[in-house]
Amino acid sequence: MNVLIVYAHPDSRSLNGALKDYAVAHLQAAGHAVQVSDLYAMEWKTTLEANETPGPDVQREQEKLLWADTVIFQFPLWWFTMPAIMKGWVDRVYSYGFGYGIGEHSDQRWGDRYGDGTLAGKRAMLMVTTGGWEPHYSARGINGPIEQLLFPIHHGILYYSGMQVLPPFLIYRTSRVDQARFADACEELGRRLDTLQAAAPIPFRRQNDGDYEIPALTLKEHIAPGATGMEIHLAEQ
Ligand code: FAD
Repeated sequence: MNVLIVYAHPDSRSLNGALKDYAVAHLQAAGHAVQVSDLYAMEWKTTLEANETPGPDVQREQEKLLWADTVIFQFPLWWFTMPAIMKGWVDRVYSYGFGYGIGEHSDQRWGDRYGDGTLAGKRAMLMVTTGGWEPHYSARGINGPIEQLLFPIHHGILYYSGMQVLPPFLIYRTSRVDQARFADACEELGRRLDTLQAAAPIPFRRQNDGDYEIPALTLKEHIAPGATGMEIHLAEQ
């Protein structure tokens, strides 16, 4: 398997840096080919310019995505989402005709997105660390449920471009990570890396499988009647 790790942390000696090194070593030891896009080390240009067309830096990242069977996005949660440098990677690498603007629009099909698209057939997983505690991100936690906070990335970026999205690998309350917790985290991460190909993805509904009205793209009335919110886009609840 070819694995691309898109990694955003400014300090290679950080917890994220150590986890990234562990992931690379673990995957390579299992015989997988690994590429890392270390966005800070690459001094990734974050801002999309007016009328920008993909230059060599963007094309290299697109080639890595096409090469990969699985893409891991690794980052510390900053202000409830990915660091700006990674958002800038998405803004520029997901260019028109690659990340969006694919396929024909008709009464049956509204372009190739949400389950279809350039990256269809690939898998993706987020690897995220948070300062906040796990209960802060639980169903009734003050930060909001983590699966809802990550929904715009999972659904709006990864699934949008066609990838199947695996449940995230999460480490909460990072200030309490010591050698023992780090060892446990690596063990758990190793298990997740060993099952990247077999694990069940989050069951998002495919846009073009008949669940949505076209062109309104609202979920059909008879499906999850009366329900609203992000969860309605999951096929099994
Ligand atoms: P580090 O700070 O590098 O390390 C964390 C701990 O792990 C330390 O105790 C360290 O000793 C230990 N450690 C590191 N490496 C190892 C190793 N190899 N072995 C054993 N132990 C190790 N948190 C939220 O929950 N929600 C937010 O919205 C949020 N917003 C933020 C915004 C900003 C701008 C910033 C800077 C932080 C924010 N945080 C937030 C906190 C942030 O998510 C955490 O600081 C981050 O996830 C910690 O990851 P790190 O790699 O930087 O850890």
